[in-house]
Amino acid sequence: MIKPQEALRIILESVPKLSPVPIPLAEIDGYVLAEDIVAAHDVPPFDNSAMDGYALLAADIAGAGKDTPVTLKLIEEQPAGKSTDAVVTPGTAIKIMTGAPIPAGADVVVPIERTRSAGDTVEILAALPVKNNIRAAGEDMPKGSTAATAGAVVTPVVVGLLASLGFPAASACAKPRVAVIGTGNELIPVDQPLTPGKIRDSNSYTVTAQARGCGAIVARLGVAGDTKEDVARLVNAALADADVVVTSGGVSVGDYDFVKDVLAEMGAELKFWGVKQKPGKPLAFWTLEEKLIFGLPGNPVATVLCFEEYVRPALLKMMGRTNLLRPVVTAGLTHDLRKKPGRQHFIGVRVEAADGRYKATVNGRQGSGILKSLAGADGIAIVPEDVTEMKAGEELQVQLIGLPEDH
Ligand code: AMP
Ligand code: MG
Repeated sequence: MIKPQEALRIILESVPKLSPVPIPLAEIDGYVLAEDIVAAHDVPPFDNSAMDGYALLAADIAGAGKDTPVTLKLIEEQPAGKSTDAVVTPGTAIKIMTGAPIPAGADVVVPIERTRSAGDTVEILAALPVKNNIRAAGEDMPKGSTAATAGAVVTPVVVGLLASLGFPAASACAKPRVAVIGTGNELIPVDQPLTPGKIRDSNSYTVTAQARGCGAIVARLGVAGDTKEDVARLVNAALADADVVVTSGGVSVGDYDFVKDVLAEMGAELKFWGVKQKPGKPLAFWTLEEKLIFGLPGNPVATVLCFEEYVRPALLKMMGRTNLLRPVVTAGLTHDLRKKPGRQHFIGVRVEAADGRYKATVNGRQGSGILKSLAGADGIAIVPEDVTEMKAGEELQVQLIGLPEDH
């Protein structure tokens, strides 16, 4: 059995790079750019007015004030979206709207609130310096500048920059296609009545939701019965389309745990089976050509935690992210805790921040079948392999699973 850090290292090392694909702008948020975005023109493309008001010559209004208005002749109106050949000369002004190009000759815009309209003339009631209320061409992004670099996650703001620069699409790292498979004769679909000995399949739903939460494209293929044939049928179906296959259950040492046998027969390369952790000891991981296959243990808490700890970082890396891991903080336990040595424990906790320190409280009754122990948990506490006992106030590392990755 290997340690959790070693398991993560092996997985991340096996992650293939997906080829970049052109993604239309309306769908590109959340993708990682595969190219630098360089401005082919200035944004804004021309000097324009920041206010509704009058474009004129600053020199003309040097002495203007409330009691000393300067009267200028109106020669034109300049709405947004229109350009004009009219030229502002001394003694004249052009009425201008926000976003309209600054007419030739003008070097300042006086906002309408500081003027008084008078038919075909206007009275200016304030002196303003040159360039006031003028947005210079290229002040947002000058031509030739880099608006976003390859490797950046496309945020809504980056989408806006791409639009301003005239990119209908951009090259981004593809999102992995993930196929989700449950295994187990005891599992019945969520819409069927319970019968003796049966439980409902929940793992295929938690895994689907978790994979989608990473931004992956997910197909839930359903549940295979505990026969080699049925497991092989679904795994083959999964491999036909997916970059990543995630199974749950059937990877332990039970008589009906066939996932390992099936993958061995398919020629998948077993990278590891068994991690010194609780829950999730029987976690298995294979590669087959460029594809990744995760065999998550079936206990619902183990499934969720193994996804969070191992599958999530792999999917993020596949889609080009460089921050793969959630923020980790040091937190003081609010109570005593005991465990057996030999395995690292992952425990769902509630995290509170008080006076600049974090406090962690185990989130209710623990057990690999007690999925509720993770509902409302906003942290995963790491209790190291050799620790057997911790006292209230002692500190441990906690991953903040409610926050995005920061390293
Ligand atoms: P296994 O690893 O297949 O032995 O499963 C371990 C435990 O997890 C058993 O109690 C299973 O009933 C349970 N289990 C396996 N798969 C699922 C699933 N898809 N949904 C809910 N529980 C499951
Ligand atoms: Mg099973």
